[in-house]
Amino acid sequence: MKRKTFVTALATAIMMTAVVPAAFAQTGTQAPVAQQGVVAFDAQAAAVSALKADAAQHGFKSDLSDLSYVTTINTDAATYVRYQQTVNGEELFAHQVTVTLNKAGKSLLITSDYVPNLVVEPIAKKIGENAAEQKAMVALNATETNSMNSRKFGYVVEDGKAVPSYKVITHSGESVVESFVHAENGKVLKKRDLNQHATGTGKVFKPNPVRTAGSATGLTDNLNKDSTALTNQLKAVSLLGLDGTGYLKGSYVTIKSKANTFSSTFAYNYTRSSASFEDVMAYYHIDTLQRYIQSLGFTNINNRSIVVNVNTSTQDNSWYTPSTKDLTFGTGGVDDAEDAGIIAHEYGHSIQDNQVPGFGATNEGGAMGEGFGDFLGTTYEDSLVSSTTFNACIGEWDATSYSSTTPPCLRRLDNNKVYPGAIVGEVHDDGEIWSQAEYELAKAFGRDIATKLILQSHFSLTSSSGFNAGAKAIKAADTALYAGAHATQITSIFAARGISTN
Ligand SMILES: [Zn+2]
Repeated sequence: MKRKTFVTALATAIMMTAVVPAAFAQTGTQAPVAQQGVVAFDAQAAAVSALKADAAQHGFKSDLSDLSYVTTINTDAATYVRYQQTVNGEELFAHQVTVTLNKAGKSLLITSDYVPNLVVEPIAKKIGENAAEQKAMVALNATETNSMNSRKFGYVVEDGKAVPSYKVITHSGESVVESFVHAENGKVLKKRDLNQHATGTGKVFKPNPVRTAGSATGLTDNLNKDSTALTNQLKAVSLLGLDGTGYLKGSYVTIKSKANTFSSTFAYNYTRSSASFEDVMAYYHIDTLQRYIQSLGFTNINNRSIVVNVNTSTQDNSWYTPSTKDLTFGTGGVDDAEDAGIIAHEYGHSIQDNQVPGFGATNEGGAMGEGFGDFLGTTYEDSLVSSTTFNACIGEWDATSYSSTTPPCLRRLDNNKVYPGAIVGEVHDDGEIWSQAEYELAKAFGRDIATKLILQSHFSLTSSSGFNAGAKAIKAADTALYAGAHATQITSIFAARGISTN
């Protein structure tokens, strides 16, 4: 609940700055607005003279009859007069002209989006604004009409023509979208996300320094100190979807951390000894995973800005909390958020809880949760590095703190454990049965198809589902998605782990 309140407040703040200007004036007779300083000339008359003088250059009509006055803004240095292009007296959306006047009323500049010689597309019958709003909502999968939605008739420029259309602004959850709907056939001509997002830059391990160096040799935590070998493994990345506040908060991730990382220039370049480094890691990798899920066609899986508590625990552990729906990453050993495999594993728990509230009420369900997290983490790690040396291993860098194997792994996905004999009653250990089956799906069909099958299957599960129900659901997902094209291999992959798909 705390998270939800916070996010709503944030979204409201964004909307306030993102909503387009209010209706413009239709005639040229309004008084100037936003007075500041003394103006000793008639700004509108001066602007009209300037527009007429340069009409041929910009393609304006000589009588300026399709330019409608909007506002005059006075500042100490200059005066700005704004006009809107119109078609049949209605707004031509997003086509304006401004005149910049100096203190003596002389034109310094004309800035123009004016489109000359527009042909108007004829329509026989105009749909109503409510119908237009419905068309826009259907195209966005928005279900409930929001009182903040707005509709306005006008024209858009499409293929050099003025097309009669409605500008519809819809609010749904955190998203605010401007759509242009054809005024006769109801087709959505174009749409635009109005929430303002910033793209930052940062440095991360991708997925972790052991994988990218090709070996764990010479890579040690050394009480979180920097080393040349570790700094050499940093990769420059773009941080997408930031909300523009300078904090690491965005469409899919909200970092709440010890470091409380801030950059007014959206540049987040740290080495691993900085507590901010893990903030950047968590933001980048979770954002990337959510975008990957959406690229597979799922817009309804954990599609929210998840709160991630980074370095707020000194344990060598990390967890997802179903009651708060937050993630927490600890600093014991190698800081957990220095390894994308660990980040992805924990995000896997939040994905599963989002798809099946209360999932994992049984030992087998718990094992499936751990197994899915390991599948998600390992396939993500595999996707980032071309070498196959570390395949079937998760968390190579994190594991340097506690693993004595070569390579170091938190867990492996090729231990060939078979159900039910291999069950020991510990969810991480038993999860290796499940993770191997899911990982084999990725080896057989590729990461995208395997991930799609698995995510699709989660919707079928209940809070107490176990291995058999899970395997059956994956097969049903294959029927739904691919008409059962992978059924035979799915059956044999699970059979090899001792799990029936019937
Ligand atoms: Zn886990």
